[in-house]
Amino acid sequence: MKIGFIGLGNMGGPMAANLIKAGHTVRGYDLVPRALQVFAENGGIPTQGAREAVADAELVLTMLPAGMHVREVYAGEGGILDAIPRGAQVVDSSTIDVESARAVAAAAAERGFDMLDAPVSGGVGGAAAATLTFMVGGSEAAFRRALPVLQAMGKTIVHTGPSGNGQAAKICNNMILAISMIGVCEGFALAERLGLDWQKLFDITSQSSSQCWAITSYCPVPGPVPASPANRDYQPGFTADMMLKDLKLAQQAAQSTGAATPLGAEAAALYQMLANAGMGPKDFSAMFRLLRTAPA
Ligand code: NAD
Repeated sequence: MKIGFIGLGNMGGPMAANLIKAGHTVRGYDLVPRALQVFAENGGIPTQGAREAVADAELVLTMLPAGMHVREVYAGEGGILDAIPRGAQVVDSSTIDVESARAVAAAAAERGFDMLDAPVSGGVGGAAAATLTFMVGGSEAAFRRALPVLQAMGKTIVHTGPSGNGQAAKICNNMILAISMIGVCEGFALAERLGLDWQKLFDITSQSSSQCWAITSYCPVPGPVPASPANRDYQPGFTADMMLKDLKLAQQAAQSTGAATPLGAEAAALYQMLANAGMGPKDFSAMFRLLRTAPA
């Protein structure tokens, strides 16, 4: 298939590489020359601009930082919506606000495109290993059509409902994760003050009613889970800055729908504190450092 790929950063770069490995012809564009160079080394065809990347595409995929970039690239001045061939599939995999996702999908629909929002989880490791989870919003028909291409980049691919519902699933998941991670950090910090060994607490909690992914796969203290970022000075992983971005999106969505998310709001405030303390680029489990050193 001929694929146009825009946004070849930490995630987009390896995702595009997996599409090339799967036999697709991929034209790509990014504002950063280094990203284009790596893309070319992986067998991609770099272009001078976004419109050029999509000009003969059968499927367009974008992996951009935030909602404003997605709106700009698709529907801004010189946007790609007017350059994509009729009948092509259009998929945005960036993590963005639900409103922007639905607005861009509506602009695409006006031009006859049945667009999907398909944000991912699994991080840079999942992007490289082609094991991402895709949460896909849009029509059933568009989902079925895009599925084989998404399967070249991911392992778990779920149709979550109409346009915007992919983003909705993503921000709900990450809000739950942030809240559970903070709870785990508080528990392990309290254990330390009480003279309770972290490994003992892990042995109990990983098997009992507080068991969760933040304990069993991503334990925020060094020792119990050797692969967790806590064992390597909280190198990411998934950065605290990224988590803060997703928590802000969740708060924006909660406000616009009137949903009560008091712990989501508290989680956003705590991740803002972590970022203010200079730990934004650290893994999001570095929350443990903030809570461990917090004055009583
Ligand atoms: P990134 O900053 O590494 O990559 C984004 C790329 O988009 C950059 O290379 C940038 O130059 C490019 N870009 C921005 N505006 C552009 C434009 N107008 N034209 C062409 N290129 C443009 O970010 P990332 O880590 O790859 O994340 C991308 C998206 O995936 C974000 O929405 C992020 O929240 C989401 N995400 C990231 C992770 C992760 O672990 N990194 C995990 C899941 C989801």
